[in-house]
Formats: sequence, structure tokens, C-alpha cells
Amino acid sequence: MRRTAPLILGAGPAGCAAAIALARNGAAPVLLDRDAKVRDCLCGGFLSWRTAEQLRSLGVDPEALGANPVERLALFANGQEAVVPLPAPAWGLSRRTLDDALRRRAMVLGATLEVDTAREVQGQTVVGQVRRWTGDGLFLATGKHDVRGQSRPRLSGDPELGLRVRLPATATRHDLLAGRIELHLFTGGYAGMVMQEDGSANLCLALRKSVLAACGWTPARLLANLVSHSLALQDRLGGDWQGQAIESIGAIPYGWIAETSPPGLFRLGDQAAVIPSLAGEGISIALASGELAARHWLEGGRASAPAYQRALAKRATGPLRSAKLARAFAESPIGARLALPLARHAQPLLHWLMDSSRIPPDAPLAQAPAAP
Ligand SMILES: Cc1cc2nc3c(=O)[nH]c(=O)nc-3n(C[C@H](O)[C@H](O)[C@H](O)COP(=O)(O)OP(=O)(O)OC[C@H]3O[C@@H](n4cnc5c(N)ncnc54)[C@H](O)[C@@H]3O)c2cc1C
Repeated sequence: MRRTAPLILGAGPAGCAAAIALARNGAAPVLLDRDAKVRDCLCGGFLSWRTAEQLRSLGVDPEALGANPVERLALFANGQEAVVPLPAPAWGLSRRTLDDALRRRAMVLGATLEVDTAREVQGQTVVGQVRRWTGDGLFLATGKHDVRGQSRPRLSGDPELGLRVRLPATATRHDLLAGRIELHLFTGGYAGMVMQEDGSANLCLALRKSVLAACGWTPARLLANLVSHSLALQDRLGGDWQGQAIESIGAIPYGWIAETSPPGLFRLGDQAAVIPSLAGEGISIALASGELAARHWLEGGRASAPAYQRALAKRATGPLRSAKLARAFAESPIGARLALPLARHAQPLLHWLMDSSRIPPDAPLAQAPAAP
């Protein structure tokens, strides 16, 4: 029996992965996003070896998109640096380029893109600014942004915030950052930096709200403060960061997992499981959730949503646990002191931590047709 198309709210990595997997199997999903043109969202832009593998199986090759190869992790804390090779090659790519390629791939395979901003989710209906949208099941993939009616819980205490600055391409930054992902640890957070396909550097910070509060809630003051305490950051940020826009996002519920969902509602990506960004694995979980949800919908229809949600939660629990441990360690003063000696002398332990915070691979849903 031919079913009507499912509706996917959010055309980021999670929504696009679901759209690609559904479209490849004959369902022609509707992708609904607030942006007609992809913008560069707040993200570190680090694609792990696992993420790259998943992207290739979806028909999107980071290397062909000009992604910057990353072979080493450089850790900075208390004025010291330790460099370790990554277990496998990774990549730095802007989210604009990645999301654009994923969207195009989904549309070439038969997905339709509609533009509207969701104001509310009522059951499986999306109430947009323009009109109401329904389909045979709703895939909720709005990522970092909650929609009224399906908001994720607010985690109490001192929540995490994200900041991002794009640093222009310069010869100095190229020499410092080529081939590596850098993590600069400080009490209450970290700053990650990686070079993107156009030679610009993506500086992304995740930090406790209290750290920003101590800087008068002013991101520029916080950055100036970090730079004044780190020669390495001084070298990398130079003076030109001050002219750049600083984007921010608040109250990220790191560690939260949707254990179940009602029939017909498939929660994907950050709307299903929020891995601490230090692990650089959020995109991978988003892609895996999209493929897994598509598989369930294709096999069991909208009724399979609760089973999908439980299966994803089971797969994501281990990686989230490892990433939470790494984050708690790295953001503590003792962790920052021990991280570098550990990186230098206990590389297998670090590699184990990196590996255990990756979502286990699943058999690809369908063989990719030849790239158009
Ligand atoms: C500071 C920080 C750094 C990070 N660094 C990395 C990293 O280096 N590597 C990594 O793998 N992961 C990283 N992550 C995690 C990663 O960004 C997310 O896990 C990933 O983007 C989730 O994908 P998604 O598709 O679920 O959501 P998103 O990428 O957030 O996409 C959501 C989509 O939904 C659309 N949308 C949102 N609201 C609405 C609405 N109301 N109506 C219509 N459309 C809507 C948006 O326009 C967007 O297209 C980082 C996260 C943070 C906070």
C-alpha cells in the first residue's frame, strides 16, 4: 500500500539524512525549514572519521566539498600544549557547505523543500507562520531550537552556552591550524578551533553560563579575557577577531536523551540526544538518527516511532556517557591540569575515550544510487 509522504521539520544534518534515506526508498518526504538558503549555524564544524563515513554512505563526500583534512588533536591548558594523532582522518568543514550539500542531495533524490517557520507542534501537525503542515508522521529535527509543544526539558543548575566566531583566512592561522583540531581548555568550558574549506577558522566555545556572567554577560569581554590569559589564543585570534560577529546560543541541554515518543513523532538529532560538543559527534548522531528513523518508518510506518526512539536512545546512551565524562573532566581545574600529561603518556586511553563517544555504526539503509 502506498502511503502519503512523511513531514520532516528542520533541514539540518538529521532532517536531511532522514530525507535522503526515505527518498532513496521511494517515499518522497517534505522537508520544511525556516531558511530558504542554508546559513552557517553555530557549530564547531569538525567532522569525525565516523561522521565522514556516514556522509559518504549518504552520497556526500567531505573531501569533494573541499573539507580541510584533520589528523591531529592539539590540547591546550595552563600555557602548555600536547598533540596527539587522531585514530583516523577527520575533516573541518563549514556548516553552510555541509548542510547545503545534504539538502541538495535530498532534493535530487526526490525530497521537496518547503519554507516556513514552525511556531508550534500540535500532535503531528506543524503550525507554521504561513500555514499548517501535516504528513504521514512527523520527523522533528529542529536541532538546537525548540518548538513550542515539543520543547526539551530545561536542565537546572549552571547550563552550557555556545559561542561562535568565524576568523578570516590568514597565512598565520593557516600555518598554526593546518591538519589539526585544537581544544583550548579553561575552567568552566573550552574553545575549539578548526580550519574550514575556505581557509577561515571556526572558533566555537561551549561554557557554563556562570563563566559568561562573570564577564558581565558580554561575549567580547569573555574572549578578550581568555586571550589575555593564553599566548596560544593570542597567536590564533590576533586582533581581527574583534571586528567579527559573535553568535551565541543558550541553555544547551547536554546529556539529554528522549527515551520514548508517541506514535507518529520521530525525534531526530539534537531533538533526540544532545551529546556534549567537546566530543565533536553531534553531526554523527544527527545523521544516524535520521537514517534509523527512516528505516523504522519504512518498515513499520508512523506506529514505529516509540520503537525507533527507544532504539536510538539505546545506541546513544554509551557515547553520551563517555562525552559527559570527558566534558566534566576537561572543564574542571584538576582535569585541565591532568589532560595534557594524559594525552602525552596515555594515548590509548584518550583514543578509547574518543572511540567510545562515537555512535556505533549501523548497516546503511540502502545502496546509494550513482551520484547524479
Ligand atoms: C558549541 C557547539 C559546537 C559544536 N561543534 C560540533 C562539531 O564540531 N562537530 C559535531 O559533529 N557536532 C558539533 N556540535 C553539535 C552539532 O552542531 C549538532 O549536534 C547538530 O547540528 C545537530 O543537527 P540537527 O540536524 O539535529 O540540528 P541543526 O543542525 O540545529 O539543524 C536544525 C535545522 O532546523 C531548522 N529549524 C530550526 N527551528 C526551526 C523552526 N522553528 N522552523 C523551521 N525550521 C527550523 C534550522 O534552520 C536548521 O536547518 C556542536 C554544538 C555546539 C553547541
